Amino acid sequence: MPPPATPPPATLPPATLPPATPLPATPLPVTPLPVTPPSATPSPAMPSPAMPPLATPPPDALLNLHGLTRDELRALIVSWDFPPVHAARLWNYLYYEAVAALDAAAMPDIPARLMERLRAECTPDVLPVAHEAQSADGFTRKYLLTLPGGSRIETVLMRFTGRVTACISSQAGCAMGCVFCATGQMGFTRHLTAAEIVAQALHVQRILKAQGERLRNVVLMGMGEPLHNYDAVMRACEIMRDGSGLALGARKITLSTVGVVPGIVRMADEASPIHLAVSLHAATQKERLALVPAARRWPLDQLIDACRYYVEKLNRRIFFEWTLIDGKNDTEAHARAVAKLLSGMQAQVNLIPLNPTSGYGGAPGRTDAAKKFQSILAACNLPSTIRQPRGIDIAAGCGQLAAEG
Ligand code: SAH
Ligand code: SF4
Repeated sequence: MPPPATPPPATLPPATLPPATPLPATPLPVTPLPVTPPSATPSPAMPSPAMPPLATPPPDALLNLHGLTRDELRALIVSWDFPPVHAARLWNYLYYEAVAALDAAAMPDIPARLMERLRAECTPDVLPVAHEAQSADGFTRKYLLTLPGGSRIETVLMRFTGRVTACISSQAGCAMGCVFCATGQMGFTRHLTAAEIVAQALHVQRILKAQGERLRNVVLMGMGEPLHNYDAVMRACEIMRDGSGLALGARKITLSTVGVVPGIVRMADEASPIHLAVSLHAATQKERLALVPAARRWPLDQLIDACRYYVEKLNRRIFFEWTLIDGKNDTEAHARAVAKLLSGMQAQVNLIPLNPTSGYGGAPGRTDAAKKFQSILAACNLPSTIRQPRGIDIAAGCGQLAAEG
């Protein structure tokens, strides 16, 4: 593929990402963002950029079964001198039956000796519900789930146009500090483990199963920045995609990123099969930086180079999210600027009216401005959708329930 148009600088200054709210007296356990400068000139041979280590559960934690792939579960059971068939049965109970506990009565095919060992050394990750809320229109149900250690994360069950989708979190809080986002306003607490990410999908699957339905769509658009927790997120996606388990189609999983350039390049180089959405919100570096502090570390030109690289390498379109803020980024000039920025790229723009948050003074873009914006994109052959602002009455914007709960 041709190299990206703009050669990157050899090095980038190690920018810091201040959260939008002042830090508390005790320092937050923020895993440092990669210090290796991200490159916008990727090549197939490029090594994976340094990403933060896999999140570590508390030291006294039992082995979390939901963090294991099917092969790893099999290896574990075989290493305990049990035949592999029991691993297959256990996997079936965990993902097909979606059992919520290591309970002999719920898993009659598992021999007592194996069950004893499982109960002594392992746990399934079931996250207690601290709070739940249903939107007035009935289309959105939001769960505030408690992690081991006490942090709370959001998982949302959404029903749009006949589809059921789970919106899941990848971190407790977020280090990226986008000014309009409730999660950004609360700062970063910790990465989720792969098991904690899978557990959210299973939580929704249990609810749907009880209603005779099945989970088919997952979006990583809840709390946190998924590409800041790359390894755990990708492991969770592999587990959720396993055909003998939750069996989610790769194209039924969409990961949304604020624009972590090395993560996008890595997804392209690893031919990650899941869909990618990039939160753009502005078409110039200056305007983007005012909304998205992470743009200092990963400037717009490098981000667009990485996106073009991804699209060309995988021959797959990218979804670009654009939160419409009245007067700030929803004018006709903004629409023309984004169309120009993305020209020639396989792309679709998802326009999202701002969900007001207590920490940001902006107002949602007006409906007529959104329609005009969309018609300008259409005239430039850039497809787009306007997301219905569902669930605002239950604070269904990213991080809002956790901020209020
Ligand atoms: N960290 C990732 C994914 C989680 S946020 C990301 O930023 O892409 C998912 C989407 O919700 C992003 O596009 C984000 O910009 C948007 N979002 C966050 N807060 C919002 C709000 N108050 N109103 C509208 N969209 C918001
Ligand atoms: Fe983090 Fe995404 Fe919120 Fe930005 S919009 S603060 S990246 S969760």
